Amino acid sequence: MRNALDQLLLPAECLLCRALLSFRDSQRLVCDVCRHRWRPVRAPWCGRCGQPEPLFGRCRVCADWPAALVLTRSAVWLDAGARHAVHALKYGGLPRIAADLAGAMASLDLPGRPDAWLVPVPLGAGRLRQRGYNQSERLARALSRRWNRPLVELLVRTRDTVTQTALTPEARLANVAGAFQLRNAKWGMGNEGTRADSAFQIPHSALERPLVLVDDVFTTGATLAEAATALERAGARTVLAVTFGRALVPDFT
Ligand SMILES: [Zn+2]
Ligand SMILES: [Zn+2]
Repeated sequence: MRNALDQLLLPAECLLCRALLSFRDSQRLVCDVCRHRWRPVRAPWCGRCGQPEPLFGRCRVCADWPAALVLTRSAVWLDAGARHAVHALKYGGLPRIAADLAGAMASLDLPGRPDAWLVPVPLGAGRLRQRGYNQSERLARALSRRWNRPLVELLVRTRDTVTQTALTPEARLANVAGAFQLRNAKWGMGNEGTRADSAFQIPHSALERPLVLVDDVFTTGATLAEAATALERAGARTVLAVTFGRALVPDFT
């Protein structure tokens, strides 16, 4: 209903460059030209975290990740156009743009994808109330349609973490430490224990499948590593992760 209304009220123009969208693209929010400007993240990269390879020595981005988190990939570099698109998804009240972003993520090559289940990185209850939706859940939902794989909201965020943007890598780790747990691990705890949560049952065998965490942006990997830790503690064997954007090389010096 909301989508139908949006389409009646808003002219069909590209959200990023304002060019008119062709009839064929009228369901989209981003035109072909802008989508082709998104710069794919390409190899050579660290086989595990997908960050461009370090010149020497081991990769510092993923060295301390939990063992279960075996592979992380991002679709595009987070420069101008892609950043604008993520901004629209998170702060512009435009969850529909998730379909455009998931389109860019759909071609990511993940081992085990035919058996995988998608797990959105959850928002804290406060942030969720503020925004009205979880942008990662919208991305995961759009991707699950593309990949024809189920989505299962296995995790809750037990507290609202401060925005990571201005934090150093070490501070980011501390900021998200212990922020996630399995959704029904504690009745009525975390995530302000909604009724829906207490009714939620983790599907049998979910943790034996490859689980693919879905988030909007990869910056240092701290959030994904922490979410993967919660899944690993719960018994997950293999965790992979995909994001739409990857921040231009984080400063680890
Ligand atoms: Zn455009
Ligand atoms: Zn790495």
